[in-house]
Amino acid sequence: MRKQQERVIIIGAGASGMMAACAAASHGVPVLLLEKNEKAGKKIYITGKGRCNFTNLCETEDFFANVPRNASFLYSSVYGFDPHAVREWFEERGVRTKEERGARAFPVSDHASDITRCLEREMRRLGVQVRFLTEVKDLLFADPGRLADSARGKDFVPPLPGRIRGVRLSDGKTLCADYVIVATGGLSYPSTGSTGDGYRFARMAGHEVSRLTPSLVPFQTKEEDLIRMQGLSLKNVTFTVTNGKRRLFHEMGELMFTHFGVTGPLILRASALLQDQIAKGELNACIDLKPALSEEKLEERILREFDANRNRSVHNAVRGLYPSKMIPVILQRSALDPDIPVHDVTVFLRKGLIRTTKQFALTLTSLRGFGEAVITRGGINVRQIDPGTMESKLVEGLYFTGEVLDVDGFTGGFNLQIAWSTGWAAGESAGKRLETSRLTGIPTDNMRPV
Ligand SMILES: Cc1cc2nc3c(=O)[nH]c(=O)nc-3n(C[C@H](O)[C@H](O)[C@H](O)COP(=O)(O)OP(=O)(O)OC[C@H]3O[C@@H](n4cnc5c(N)ncnc54)[C@H](O)[C@@H]3O)c2cc1C
Repeated sequence: MRKQQERVIIIGAGASGMMAACAAASHGVPVLLLEKNEKAGKKIYITGKGRCNFTNLCETEDFFANVPRNASFLYSSVYGFDPHAVREWFEERGVRTKEERGARAFPVSDHASDITRCLEREMRRLGVQVRFLTEVKDLLFADPGRLADSARGKDFVPPLPGRIRGVRLSDGKTLCADYVIVATGGLSYPSTGSTGDGYRFARMAGHEVSRLTPSLVPFQTKEEDLIRMQGLSLKNVTFTVTNGKRRLFHEMGELMFTHFGVTGPLILRASALLQDQIAKGELNACIDLKPALSEEKLEERILREFDANRNRSVHNAVRGLYPSKMIPVILQRSALDPDIPVHDVTVFLRKGLIRTTKQFALTLTSLRGFGEAVITRGGINVRQIDPGTMESKLVEGLYFTGEVLDVDGFTGGFNLQIAWSTGWAAGESAGKRLETSRLTGIPTDNMRPV
């Protein structure tokens, strides 16, 4: 007789956990999804500013160029369930989708809740059992005697647990499972439930976890005048970062000033690439506010504005050149009195205005924290994970998916795609194996009750 507890347990009802649940349950096997929050997909609700940029429909090769860390680990899972397949998956289940600039895909409704509701509907249809307000505290392995040995002293290195056996909840109850998929997310926006539990689970299972840092995160800056431009967003500007000797970053895009520094897509992207450098100390940055104009062309443009506003103050004359919030800062940095008439502006002062426009200087002092980071950089060493199935190479039947792994993408839908693809790969593998075991009668080898 087969035992009651034969099932797949998934920890975390985020993007990758719910997709894993759907994939596993599509094999007709019992799936139990455990979520510590009172509802599913809390983070999905805030993605894409509430619109959920759920994938990126670029060519698959370009996809990997947008994964700055361990992209090759994802080849198998992303080709197995690629961005177009993900879009189709949601479309077939009733979510109408659209493609926007930069191949970013969103639900037509612009409501992230459509994505979560679709996943929940599908889980219901497939009979996935979901338990909310259920926090997993520990993983249980097939040889608890050996694990208990680890309590003997901190120098004692326990033998690796061989097979997963279930989970222990925060209320002390234990649940058996043949397969456990850890989809607990990273450390960013901990208010959504991702508080890093999966890293602890991974370490318990003998896995290495690399340094965890906030990524796709704003920069803190030194300059105090930026606060006067708080909320101002600039499109099509270039952002250049140097360490005094070398140019480290130079790209065009959109950024925004905040009360502490700078944010926006361009800045978040820079944060993913400058992690190591900013950890060593401050970095110099400058914004070219008019990248389409050379200094000469900009001077011609300024002269035209001055000519058209000959009897007006500098402040009024430059209105056509800069957003109004920026004018006092630009003029102050260029040592230009805003009230003097334009005919009093000397060549020297004009050159200063050009320099400030082409090289609006900032000092980046640090990255902001996990509370403001879109993702966590670092995570479970992917060399210890099977890239085709997401199964641990150390513990049979244990899987890790989504942000808990040491992979990360830029903004644009790449991180959710990583969550869908890795979740799908794990769910497929665990579901298929359990289905095979049920059909053949060959049990998975952890059928003992806990
Ligand atoms: C503000 C913001 C905007 C974003 N926008 C986008 C976007 O538009 N496009 C994009 O591609 N990516 C975006 N991302 C990134 C993306 O949301 C994440 O990479 C993705 O959600 C990770 O999915 P996950 O399933 O691995 O983890 P999560 O979505 O974090 O889910 C983990 C789940 O596990 C649960 N959990 C954790 N520990 C336990 C435990 N011990 N027991 C039970 N449950 C537990 C948590 O409560 C949570 O529900 C954004 C992120 C943020 C913060």
